[in-house]
Amino acid sequence: MNHFIYRNQELCCEEVEVAKIAAEVGTPFYLYSHATLARHFQTFDSSFANIPHLSCFAVKSCSNIAILRLFAQLGGGADIVSGGELFRALTAGVPPERIVYSGVGKTREELAYALRANILQFNVESEQELEALQEVAAAAGVKARVSFRVNPDVDPQTHAYISTGLAKNKFGIPIDQGVAVYLRARELANIQVQGVSCHIGSQLTQVSPFIESLRKLKNFIARLQAEGIRISHLDLGGGLGIQYRDEEPPHPEEYAQAIQAELAGLDCTLILEPGRVIVGNAGALITRVHYTKQGPAKKFVIVDAGMNDLARPSLYGAYHAIRPVRDHGQGREVADVVGPICETGDFLSRDQEVPVSLPGELLAVMSAGAYGFSMSSNYNSRPRVAEVLVAGAGYHVIRQRENYEDLVRGEEIPAFLQS
Ligand code: PLP
Repeated sequence: MNHFIYRNQELCCEEVEVAKIAAEVGTPFYLYSHATLARHFQTFDSSFANIPHLSCFAVKSCSNIAILRLFAQLGGGADIVSGGELFRALTAGVPPERIVYSGVGKTREELAYALRANILQFNVESEQELEALQEVAAAAGVKARVSFRVNPDVDPQTHAYISTGLAKNKFGIPIDQGVAVYLRARELANIQVQGVSCHIGSQLTQVSPFIESLRKLKNFIARLQAEGIRISHLDLGGGLGIQYRDEEPPHPEEYAQAIQAELAGLDCTLILEPGRVIVGNAGALITRVHYTKQGPAKKFVIVDAGMNDLARPSLYGAYHAIRPVRDHGQGREVADVVGPICETGDFLSRDQEVPVSLPGELLAVMSAGAYGFSMSSNYNSRPRVAEVLVAGAGYHVIRQRENYEDLVRGEEIPAFLQS
């Protein structure tokens, strides 16, 4: 359920006509619905209301500080993977005691920054990272609260690029080597072991892989307890999928119930790191048709957004439904919706039915709220697009469109080339 609906044939986001925003802000732009964001967050978070828990929104999925502020106001925290994301979370007002830090390659500078901020937990992914964290924490004269991300070797049955919990993936510490790492951590003066974490992948459409990995984690926690190591926080990561086309992912309540049934007897605060399930269907990319072109093999609809703005179709072959912003009965036809980038892989939709389109018309690329803007780039020297948040009858530009000056900011022509 989301708040993108047609009224009098016009696509609206909540109470605002999308075409009106396009006329005033220009295209392309990312469009988010405040009501949908809030509803998705609250539905997810309240599904765990019966147990001590913290929903740490995965900043990487949609990192605009206005959106992070909204979730913080709703009681959420942040799952970060870089110093930049920590900066965003703090700037947005996420309390540090609600921030967890994942990622395989945290630098010493990033570790020191997060220690200074006094975040809730480092999800450490290797023994070398543990030693680095000990060193940095000792130098700062503080103790780091640590959980280890264990890799349970569970198949999440999703796209290979977003599978993270298989033995062949780079993430986490193999679960069968985990106890030794916890024993080592216990000896370190500036490390306080508090948790176990895992994240097995993204866009999961079944509950079973989550449950399989939770069972492995429970066994693992029992082994730690036998060694006298007490675990107070269990972080299950994110990964719950959404409907892009005809997927039928579990509803957050179903997911939460299945998890809570497995948790019985564990005395832990549950941490969750949802991203896509909160923002995916709360956002769309709005783009304008430049030209259409009938090639010998297929028809192309050439729009002003490209793979630099929305990478998912090119990167994963991901499907996004394309809807007309004005539905005047134009019908649908099979065509490729492509961008202006000089790559054959530059498409938003390929070999799918899309609205029959004329130059100048607007299209909405749906379900683009997660891993949309946050994965965008300046490739082909294209300024990154604006982000707009609709709330009721009003809209707010929450990120200005970049300009050409932004493109060259920080670049320099060295003196020897200046003559
Ligand atoms: N937590 C971690 C460690 C991740 O790597 C990711 C995504 O890659 C997430 C949470 C969020 O996943 P999702 O957006 O599928 O909920």
